[in-house]
Amino acid sequence: MTDLSPIPPTLLAPTDTGWVEALTEDELPEPAQRWRIDGTGSAAWAMAHVVSAEAQLEALTAQAVEWYARIDAWLAHESAQPRATVAFFGAHLERFALDAREADPRKKSVTLPGGKVQTREAKPRAVVTDEEEALAWALNHAPEAIRTVEKLRLEALRQRLTVREMETLAWVTNSCGCKVSVRDDEGLDIPPVGTETECSECGAEALIGMVEVLHSRWVVTDAEGGFVPGVDVDPGGITARVVTG
Ligand SMILES: [Zn+2]
Repeated sequence: MTDLSPIPPTLLAPTDTGWVEALTEDELPEPAQRWRIDGTGSAAWAMAHVVSAEAQLEALTAQAVEWYARIDAWLAHESAQPRATVAFFGAHLERFALDAREADPRKKSVTLPGGKVQTREAKPRAVVTDEEEALAWALNHAPEAIRTVEKLRLEALRQRLTVREMETLAWVTNSCGCKVSVRDDEGLDIPPVGTETECSECGAEALIGMVEVLHSRWVVTDAEGGFVPGVDVDPGGITARVVTG
């Protein structure tokens, strides 16, 4: 066939491994798992590892691209003959089937042991060559030929929505001294501090004292406070990103 070998033997050679190359935190040995950056010195050392690893990634990618090119060249070379054969005999078979249909219009296909040649007739019809121009014409002359696609305008949607943090679990300390937990996954509705209440712990008439929120979740509602289906909250937050160079 060919002496062009697309995959060099080095592809199968084992690569160097060290703890820095471990794939997940769990694969790291104990000391490496405990290791943390504790200052600019170790941060610079860590950044040097990132820079070096990125250079390795670049080299590996370049190597892969070179191999892909060699595989493409190999495929193009090896497939030239069979592709030419398919094209040559295929064209003759199509001609044969078209001639057969011309001789007998009812004979729409030719069936052979290895396969069949089908013929089909297409009527002349209009095709669009310039979507923009045809659309502009249709706006005035054939509005029924225009399909309107409904898509959400996210910024406009956000104007209608309210994102807020909903408290779902809290400690409430009453003036009687009892500390009671209040939980409601649909949102707590705790009266303001100083409101009279019957203590759920001791039963005394008491005033609501300190409220400590223990848990809350983000919710998105419409102007009336109703939940909006199909919409959730991305809580955002501060993140960091390593950029080398
Ligand atoms: Zn109480």
